[in-house]
Amino acid sequence: MMMKCRVCGGQATIKLESYNTKLCERDFLAFFERRVKNAIKDFDMLNHQDRVLVAVSGGKDSLALWDVLRRLGYQVSGYHLVVNIPGSSEDALQKSQAFAEKTGAELIVENLAELIDADIKAAARAMKKPVCSVCGMVKRYRFNQLASEHGFTAVVTGHHLDDESATLLGNLVHWQEDYLARQYPVLPVRPGMVKKAKPLVYVSKKEIEIYARLRDIAFASSECPYAEGATSLVYKDLVNSLEEKMPSTKIFFLKTFFKKYRTYFKDARLENPAELHPCPECGYPTSGPVCNFCQLKHKLASRPKKP
Ligand code: SF4
Ligand code: ZN
Repeated sequence: MMMKCRVCGGQATIKLESYNTKLCERDFLAFFERRVKNAIKDFDMLNHQDRVLVAVSGGKDSLALWDVLRRLGYQVSGYHLVVNIPGSSEDALQKSQAFAEKTGAELIVENLAELIDADIKAAARAMKKPVCSVCGMVKRYRFNQLASEHGFTAVVTGHHLDDESATLLGNLVHWQEDYLARQYPVLPVRPGMVKKAKPLVYVSKKEIEIYARLRDIAFASSECPYAEGATSLVYKDLVNSLEEKMPSTKIFFLKTFFKKYRTYFKDARLENPAELHPCPECGYPTSGPVCNFCQLKHKLASRPKKP
């Protein structure tokens, strides 16, 4: 039997269980853009005067985000940090560059090894932390710093509904109050920090995949090997299983948290400014004597030199 599009009554090819709805391709694209627009409006994330920098990994989430923001009329440039992981970094860079070329958008590319004068494995060893934790820290730090240096007024990332609902579950299970206080889709501008937003917070991974296919976006499919085994995957499986049995659980869970957030963490997203001060070496806000990035640079510099 032919599936009917709920909006136009034509032939539907896309079924969205979470919304108990079926859509044709054109109405799906309109639905997707509306979800992104609503998130931007609900949290006052961006305005059309903002100069926006998107963190581009070359994967579908960040490229779909870049694409949809451009279509919605925002001034968006991309930033890609090459992590030098054999088997995944080449593809990621190539897909980011291909998208920028196709759309005529600006893409800024940097290399992590040049920023810290070491590779990511050496950096993780120096910090005695998992590779992803150090990689994430360097990316966040440099993304913010570069945005300030180049006069961008907002930085955006491709975190979506699946990411955010899984993170929320993990933060609640371990009752990580500090992380909960920061789990808001927009963090305002603060001394040393550019405004940060997650405009894909209302759309799921599946919806992004459909959007990328319909918009003909070529994205990197090779996953970074370090992504495997991340604890976040356990929570993603859990929320996926809830969603399968009870469609729309993810969006309900996250939206309810955001509603309650306004009551419980009203001022908390400023991360208790009294505890933060500029890093004496680079000016980035930190609660320690120096920021993590400067700590990493010291630890790498004090490594025994190879003969
Ligand atoms: Fe970096 Fe981990 Fe992401 Fe790989 S999976 S790019 S190591 S944060
Ligand atoms: Zn610093």
